[in-house]
Amino acid sequence: MRPLKKVIIFGGTHGNEWTGIFAVKKYAEELIKEFPELDLHFILANPEAFQLNRRFKHEDLNRAFQFIHEERPDSYEHQQALKFKKMIDQEACFVLDLHTTTSNMGNTIIISHNQPLNFHVASQLVQNLKDTRVIVSPDPNKKYLASQSEFGMMIEVGPVANGLIDAVALEGTLQLIKEVLRALSTLTNLTSGSVEIYEEIEDIFYPQDEAGQITAYIHKDFQGNDFKAVNGEYKPFTTFKGEELRLSTKEELYPIFVNEAAYYPTKLAFTLCRKRTLKL
Ligand SMILES: [Zn+2]
Repeated sequence: MRPLKKVIIFGGTHGNEWTGIFAVKKYAEELIKEFPELDLHFILANPEAFQLNRRFKHEDLNRAFQFIHEERPDSYEHQQALKFKKMIDQEACFVLDLHTTTSNMGNTIIISHNQPLNFHVASQLVQNLKDTRVIVSPDPNKKYLASQSEFGMMIEVGPVANGLIDAVALEGTLQLIKEVLRALSTLTNLTSGSVEIYEEIEDIFYPQDEAGQITAYIHKDFQGNDFKAVNGEYKPFTTFKGEELRLSTKEELYPIFVNEAAYYPTKLAFTLCRKRTLKL
């Protein structure tokens, strides 16, 4: 395997997710010193949204890449997406995009491209950092920043509120970054092995009335249950009238992004995944 030396690390793709922003702003020098064999680039992806302490200014930058061929002169994020696409297309590179979530996801990486290198890096992370989980989220429209290269992944750490620095999230993110860089600087040939992955299979939306208003919230016993298996009947919601709502599955599935704040506009309550072992 030809080693991939160039790594672009994006923080603050969402302007209110401060963990990645401070990882990029405060630790770039240290990481460049620690990994001299790699060509590291650190980018604060959405500085205007950071200034506003909002997820985005005009549109979600981590969805903007699917509209890259449109004319969107009034969108700040569209201009950022064009700039980053050009940067990523210059030469083969690994893209690491740092995110946080309000849901109880722990240390998670999300892979969109079915590239052996991505899964080998993931496998090394899972072996060396306890409680790291790997989500596979195909991105056919290439809307995500990290999908703009064949090689790369998103890091999602949580639970953490937006607009603040949380020690566990920041230190967890730094550990994940270092482990990815260590993997990239040492992986010269891809060996066999296996890695446990969670494949997204179904989005579950909040119950809504005819006007599209949500009629229920996440059940108290379901809050924080990311990666806790459900099998058969389970109770994810309580209505505002106090009724517990049940759903059921036909097999063992794993909820993720339970009660993610950023997903309320789309009424997405959580996503169900299937767990399986991927042979490398
Ligand atoms: Zn994010």
